[in-house]
Amino acid sequence: MSARAATSPASDAAHRRLAGRLVIATHNPGKLSEMRELLTPYGIDAVSAADLGLVEPVESGTTFKENARIKASAAAKASGLPAFADDSGLTVDALGGDPGIYSARWAGPEKDFRRAMQMVEDKLRERGARARSQRTAHFVSALCLAWPDGHVEEFEGTVEGTLVWPPRGEKGFGYDPMFLPTGHSGTFGEMTNVEKHGLPPRGKGLSHRARAFLKLAEACLATR
Ligand code: IMP
Repeated sequence: MSARAATSPASDAAHRRLAGRLVIATHNPGKLSEMRELLTPYGIDAVSAADLGLVEPVESGTTFKENARIKASAAAKASGLPAFADDSGLTVDALGGDPGIYSARWAGPEKDFRRAMQMVEDKLRERGARARSQRTAHFVSALCLAWPDGHVEEFEGTVEGTLVWPPRGEKGFGYDPMFLPTGHSGTFGEMTNVEKHGLPPRGKGLSHRARAFLKLAEACLATR
């Protein structure tokens, strides 16, 4: 098995290129639609793991990168197709990095992100974190492309910001309404997907997922 370091520059060595059909290894509808949008300009025929009836593997890793690899590799093996997975989450500095890899779990089985955001806010208040400088956080996205023969390509992106309360905006998903990216006046919950990703030619990539994806695209996807 060969693997590329998540942070390696796209141009430092030969990366495996992706062509044809791809499985998007997520059962999260918010992520699925964002990933489809990111892949559309590259003419990739993407099918979701849920559409193929693939079982979700247990995310037993201790890092975003490990969990992305578990999901992509399981889907590639089960489908016989290259598979693309993201593992992502919100890392809050004042909470020692929580919720981190447990970002989805904080929303409980009902996937209630109002509750998850309230938990983050309650914990920040317990620590007296009211000033902006005490409420810094970042989103992380670890992306993994895995092939059925075991080859993987891995990339990571982050976006820095601060957490606002009350949450603002109804767009996006997850913790978007409380995340104010640095240098912007609107939360991710107030941004359209196009604004949140900030992809070229409009920008150089804003969201963690878009930033990781641009590295992946440069390394593994052919431009139109
Ligand atoms: P995963 O499916 O284990 O990677 O779950 C990641 C979780 O992190 C999601 O369910 C969201 O709660 C959170 N998350 C990841 N990316 C974003 C984002 O772009 N906006 C808001 N929340 C996110």
